[in-house]
Amino acid sequence: MGRTSKDKRDVYYRLAKENGWRARSAFKLLQLDEEFQLFQGVKRAVDLCAAPGSWSQVLSQKIGGQSSGQVVAVDLQAMAPLPGVIQIQGDITQLSTAKEIIQHFEGCPADLVVCDGAPDVTGLHDVDEYMQAQLLLAALNIATHVLKLGGCFVAKIFRGRDVTLLYGQLRVFFSSVLCAKPKSSRNSSIEAFAVCQGYDPPEGFIPDLTRPLLDYSYDFNQLDGPARFIVPFVTCGDLSAYDSDRSYPLDLEDGSEYKYTPPTQPPISPPYQEACRLKKNGQLAKELLPQECSIGRVDKLPQ
Ligand code: SAM
Repeated sequence: MGRTSKDKRDVYYRLAKENGWRARSAFKLLQLDEEFQLFQGVKRAVDLCAAPGSWSQVLSQKIGGQSSGQVVAVDLQAMAPLPGVIQIQGDITQLSTAKEIIQHFEGCPADLVVCDGAPDVTGLHDVDEYMQAQLLLAALNIATHVLKLGGCFVAKIFRGRDVTLLYGQLRVFFSSVLCAKPKSSRNSSIEAFAVCQGYDPPEGFIPDLTRPLLDYSYDFNQLDGPARFIVPFVTCGDLSAYDSDRSYPLDLEDGSEYKYTPPTQPPISPPYQEACRLKKNGQLAKELLPQECSIGRVDKLPQ
């Protein structure tokens, strides 16, 4: 497979490079904004799970241009610097990271909190959905500390079997909750985005990072029966936008010739770096053939 095959298979990957975005995810946020005008009047925003940083790029371009615009970006992984973006390297499920984020907003709440977080996928769907939901709840917990009343929270969500519970939990804090699917998010993926507008926590709610955000004293009973809360599903992005499940020819529609563009910002110290180094040196453990599984052969494995 040549380096151009991904450009052919994934038009948004290719467009991201050509437009200077660090990742194809930029289009998801841009298409969500087309539908919901997320950036209108936004001066302060938090980008949770931000690396490699395409959402932060979008945010800093859309709101950072205003003199008082401010973006705080957080990720487990190191991220190359971006002008106008304050970066924190940390785990959003950890109290210390949440406190660090909150410190930046002392007295000045954020208008928008976004989270495109995805845990490492295990392939066990129930586990992956559970982990994704926990990440979303961690992001929501942080949002309850930094978001202004009436503010907006956008988070990646997996439309799995138990997603209705998550919608019910989000509804406790927001007057409007929608499920949105941008055109740049593959139809074949259960990924979508919860767009929660009008931050309005329950009366007497006191944000407290040391306690579970939601317990059963809250009313999630819109889960079944005729009063069940149905979350509207909205697709967004221009209908003529590229279909993320299709392959496109490499020459452009205007007839211009395809020219390979390297990634805008290769990841810095990615978690797979060590594996690449071992592979390059022929030291990566290989799968054993059945006849090699005797004790005598095991010590011949690369160290
Ligand atoms: N929105 C990003 C962009 O546009 O470049 C892409 C985000 S990527 C799909 C998901 C990110 O979630 C990864 O960089 C990963 O490190 C981060 N992540 C996963 N779990 C996390 C956690 N517990 N705390 C912080 N970041 C986390």
